[in-house]
Amino acid sequence: MSFITKTFYSFEDLSSHLKAHQPSFYFSSKTSTVIPYDKLDTLLPWSKGDFFLCDLSKLPHKMEVKENGNLVMRGGVSWEEAKIFLRSKGRNLKTSPTEQLALITAGIATSCTGERCFGFGTMRSQVVSLKYLDFNGEEKDLKRNDEFKTSSTNLKPYQQDFKTYQTFKNAPYPRFEQATDLMIGTEGQMGIVTEVEIETVENFDLTYVFILLPKWEENIEPHMEIFKSVQTHRNAIMSCEILDSNCMNYLKPDEKLGSNQDVIFLEVKTEHFEDIYENILCQLKLIDNNSIFEIAENKFHHIRAGVPRAIFEENSKMGVVKIGTDCQVSGEKFTDLLKFYREAASIGVRYCLFGHFGDAHLHFNYMPTKEQSAQCLEKIQRLYDKVLEWKGSPFAEHGIGLLKQKYIKKYHGSHQLGLFLDLKKEHDPYNQFFPQGFMTQSGH
Ligand SMILES: Cc1cc2nc3c(=O)[nH]c(=O)nc-3n(C[C@H](O)[C@H](O)[C@H](O)COP(=O)(O)OP(=O)(O)OC[C@H]3O[C@@H](n4cnc5c(N)ncnc54)[C@H](O)[C@@H]3O)c2cc1C
Repeated sequence: MSFITKTFYSFEDLSSHLKAHQPSFYFSSKTSTVIPYDKLDTLLPWSKGDFFLCDLSKLPHKMEVKENGNLVMRGGVSWEEAKIFLRSKGRNLKTSPTEQLALITAGIATSCTGERCFGFGTMRSQVVSLKYLDFNGEEKDLKRNDEFKTSSTNLKPYQQDFKTYQTFKNAPYPRFEQATDLMIGTEGQMGIVTEVEIETVENFDLTYVFILLPKWEENIEPHMEIFKSVQTHRNAIMSCEILDSNCMNYLKPDEKLGSNQDVIFLEVKTEHFEDIYENILCQLKLIDNNSIFEIAENKFHHIRAGVPRAIFEENSKMGVVKIGTDCQVSGEKFTDLLKFYREAASIGVRYCLFGHFGDAHLHFNYMPTKEQSAQCLEKIQRLYDKVLEWKGSPFAEHGIGLLKQKYIKKYHGSHQLGLFLDLKKEHDPYNQFFPQGFMTQSGH
């Protein structure tokens, strides 16, 4: 068996590769945190001959804004490029993942969300239509307003099960309600996304503030007061993010905020800022007014993205696979989640907590030595058991990839596995799309 890397510079070449039905893993910007790109040769099991690693990031790209404001983009376009392009047209994105270098087509595959999910909801709901290349290399169109179609008898019970998770960013399995859902969150196991039409909004001015709080390990009351206060202001507050005091160790001295304190950031539409400041922030009983500061937009993005990137790099250097969570729970269970993390933080391993605070969706990360890894993994397994009990979502935005397959098993019953197998037969009869993914038997 050998791994062969192929880079595609044209859609025609990609289509020819697909026609040959070669078993392949397709990737874009390689920012996925659930695919260990530096260890693919050992963690992408394959024993049946050549396996292709296919780079889609060099595909030609183009963007266009339609009269109704929707963005149509094709090929290798990143969120950052789309944001800059849209701003030049007086528009803005409704989805803003922390890693702006990721590609939008890949974001469809992972059902990515991000910071602005707080204000605008999920990206999967903003996709109006998309195109993909199927197993014969033919380009197909899917429209949001069409129903999800399959002859599988597992669809109805699957959709019934999905209702439990309807309000979450992503459930433990893809949505499969609208035609476009075939490609959303299926992680490249049904075909290759080539083109996307996505809703945008008129550009608006934004004001960024950060609030300094006591460490969550010692007192979560001020955090919960903010959490409750922002919930009914999603029309004005686009995102509500947290970096805990431990995250500050990953920043340069002049970037650090507070002194051994947690930081909650709010991205607020400037037109509503005064109202939010006076009626929400100044009314907080557990937060002093002097703990609220304005911050420049680029500084916010730099700091917010800098922390997970630095952790990622540190783990690679230490030679350990990232042990981080991506759980979202309901507002009612948020205190339980924080309490669990408090217990997880007490085992004597370095850690930090950050993420999409307003959506009760946090990333708790251990930074273990090799010797400490097993102990951390045990704790994390307990967390996934709890999240199952709480009817929360274990992997709300980063997907399952290879690293989370072990943990997702308990969340998939016969309806889920049955539908995955039927869809694989229908859309991937040669098992050429990411055959080690969560929709196949080997992924289970
Ligand atoms: C610092 C940091 C912050 C992050 N923040 C967020 C966040 O806020 N929200 C979020 O959702 N994610 C976040 N992520 C995770 C990651 O950025 C997303 O999963 C992103 O969608 C991956 O895009 P990519 O271009 O890097 O894809 P890749 O890593 O190259 O691929 C990811 C998956 O998509 C499949 N794929 C790629 N391209 C295609 C295609 N054209 N057609 C079909 N399948 C395809 C691949 O097979 C793979 O399974 C973050 C990651 C990092 C490192």
